[in-house]
Amino acid sequence: MLPSRSIMHSLENLPKNIWCVGRNYALHAKELNNPIPQTPLIFLKAGSTINIDKTIHLPSWTSDIHHECELAIQVDKNGTPKKFGLALDLTARSVQNELKKQQAPWTLAKSFTGACPVSSFVDWVSFADFCTLQFRFYRNGTLLQSGSPQDMIFSAQELLNYISLHFPMETDDLVLTGTPAGVGPLTPGDHLVGEILSREGFSLLHVTWDVM
Ligand code: ZN
Repeated sequence: MLPSRSIMHSLENLPKNIWCVGRNYALHAKELNNPIPQTPLIFLKAGSTINIDKTIHLPSWTSDIHHECELAIQVDKNGTPKKFGLALDLTARSVQNELKKQQAPWTLAKSFTGACPVSSFVDWVSFADFCTLQFRFYRNGTLLQSGSPQDMIFSAQELLNYISLHFPMETDDLVLTGTPAGVGPLTPGDHLVGEILSREGFSLLHVTWDVM
């Protein structure tokens, strides 16, 4: 059973690597006109893109940074989950669209300075309980994204198995599990709220960010 109230830990042990999955929610793949993948589409954000502050500084070289709110899992060396929380897979969308056209890597679009704001993290539950979580993302009071692991194309367990089979996972690495539909641009002055709820609707985690 999920606890009705969880103890939040700020992410003291920062990840070396941030393993991300693209197009893991069918409606999000559709909103960006992408096909549904047959195997997980894995890409990296550098570990040094992590931002544990409550302030998001948008880069100066683009005005088109999108939020992608995602459940994030912190793992040990074997890919066993330890904690979970929320992360924003910030994406320079027009840059990414250009890179896609060129069939070039996404590094500039996904791994720029400050590209991975994270919430506090709570202790892991079982995969079965994780699957019943819901999460929500609000920009300036408007609900823009909501999702549940039940809607993932590849489950958390499948993602962790796939990543640990192919890649050198390290203790404290993060796995970002993909974004539901509703991505969109951020503007300086935005106030962002993310939350994770249990199936019964209890708040397990709440995070706010201010965009500069
Ligand atoms: Zn993403």
